[in-house]
Amino acid sequence: MATKGKAKQPIVTTVADVIGFMNEHFPPSLAADWDSVGLVCGDPEAEVERILLGVDPSDELAMEACDRDAGMVITHHPLYLAGVTSVAPIDAKGRTAHRLISNQIALFTAHTNADAANPGVSDAMARVLGLTNLEPLDRASGVGRVGTLPKSMSLAAFATTVAAKLPFTMRGVNVAGALTWPVERVAVCGGSGSSYLEAANASGADVYVTADLKHHYGFDHMAEGGCFLIDVSHWASEWPWLIELQAQLVKNFPTVDVVVSEECTDIWTAHFNCPDVQP
Ligand SMILES: [Zn+2]
Repeated sequence: MATKGKAKQPIVTTVADVIGFMNEHFPPSLAADWDSVGLVCGDPEAEVERILLGVDPSDELAMEACDRDAGMVITHHPLYLAGVTSVAPIDAKGRTAHRLISNQIALFTAHTNADAANPGVSDAMARVLGLTNLEPLDRASGVGRVGTLPKSMSLAAFATTVAAKLPFTMRGVNVAGALTWPVERVAVCGGSGSSYLEAANASGADVYVTADLKHHYGFDHMAEGGCFLIDVSHWASEWPWLIELQAQLVKNFPTVDVVVSEECTDIWTAHFNCPDVQP
């Protein structure tokens, strides 16, 4: 007896499907009170065939999404943090919003909820640097990680590893500490980690790797004999998360093309030092 063949339905992924996945892995409830996460623009019912991932929702990223014919952009940083009464294209953010909406591209952001999630932003950074046995740096918020290197190495060797493993930026990597001293236990926090200096000390870390370390906090920390510090580019510290997110999305939505933007949005575009002075 002939069986009635049922035509195989093509798998359709919508913006809402991707939002559901993101909210499951990076619950909005984990986001800080001041933060703004979730869908910024775009029709939840729209079909998505390509997603572009980036750290910052820059207008260049919106243009890249247009060029790549992506139906959705996911960024770590929010486009708007404070309440707005206009998205007119008369400033940078308005132009980005307009570019996305007029090209029917959805924008979704996962910020402090991606920092606090497990796995989250700092897990990706820690793994890129070769750390294992990861634990939260700040147990209350779940932000940051502490782990161990496969073997002890000098601070200079580790700083070289950090510079090599994170994506290249002109600003490079700054180090505070004795370059020949061995380090093995490492604390990391993707993004601005000034507020976790105490936690880095308390974790028993030999060195703390983060971004945007403020002078006075770092000065006091070192004066008090705190752990060594490595200050990296904010963008570079968070970029490895995009690679992990890409793998998660591809696994869950095998028919969707997921692309990571390689555009560097670190604000520093050049680095000068006196050429005659060697450390
Ligand atoms: Zn950040």
